Amino acid sequence: ACFEANLDKQFEKISNRHPCFGGEASMTKGRVHLPVSPICNIQCKFCKRTFNKFEQRPGVTGKLLTPDKAAALIDKALEFCPEITVAGIAGPGDTLVTPHALETFKYVNERHPQLINCLSTNGLLLERYAQDLFDAGVKTVTVTVNAVDPEVLQHICSSIVLDGKRYEGLEGAQIHIEAQKRGIKKMAELGAMIKINIVLIPKINDFHIAEIAKTVQALGAAIINIIPLIPQHELSDVPAPTCEELNKARVAAEKFLPVFRHCQHCRADACGIPGQGDLSHLLYEYSGLDQ
Ligand code: SF4
Ligand code: SF4
Repeated sequence: ACFEANLDKQFEKISNRHPCFGGEASMTKGRVHLPVSPICNIQCKFCKRTFNKFEQRPGVTGKLLTPDKAAALIDKALEFCPEITVAGIAGPGDTLVTPHALETFKYVNERHPQLINCLSTNGLLLERYAQDLFDAGVKTVTVTVNAVDPEVLQHICSSIVLDGKRYEGLEGAQIHIEAQKRGIKKMAELGAMIKINIVLIPKINDFHIAEIAKTVQALGAAIINIIPLIPQHELSDVPAPTCEELNKARVAAEKFLPVFRHCQHCRADACGIPGQGDLSHLLYEYSGLDQ
């Protein structure tokens, strides 16, 4: 119980400094996303990664940065936007396929230990890198878990690639779910605060939200963020969920864990306080980097 009380305190501290973990910080604290991770190891049927300056959604960045350039950018970002408390890496691909995110976090941890290092991942490689991430100062992790039943996940994710081998459909979904579960458990046991993103997809996983929430709660996750589907790529014909459907899903999840309701679906190179206008183009200009 004492350990749990300590963890609660630690989580309270984090959620009051991180704009996306359900505390008081959502309107006052900022984050900078460092787009250093180009490649993904799974294929979500709704995912369309793009380079441009105008689309406001995940998977989009103006450019990719090397870890060196990301390090220089973070120095500038802190001068430029002192409200920044979080250095996040959220793509545009998966953050654990290449070593770039880990290298960048090591730099940030050495130079700016006051920042919260925050990683988003699909979780396929999370167990493998959990200790390295924790040692590099990663204290908050977002794992996207769109289903905990392979029968459901096979309609959302068409294939995964693990150690050079491709697994499709049901088999891939099974491997992916088991890997995510082990990764979430390990990262939570190390002491990181885990947020679960669920992309809500009408008729495909909308009946399954409570099951996901229950499963991730048991693994040690702290908070859930339900994101409405942006219909594109292979799921471009599926309608986005209505506000009512979104609300219903949030209520279902809330029986198990707190639900974060301020998500702005940010780009992989976003900068500033979420929801208060993106400053990334100004930051890149200020840093002498062409976005
Ligand atoms: Fe796209 Fe993320 Fe899915 Fe990879 S894990 S396919 S980057 S949505
Ligand atoms: Fe926060 Fe949502 Fe933006 Fe991620 S996408 S930084 S959770 S507001």
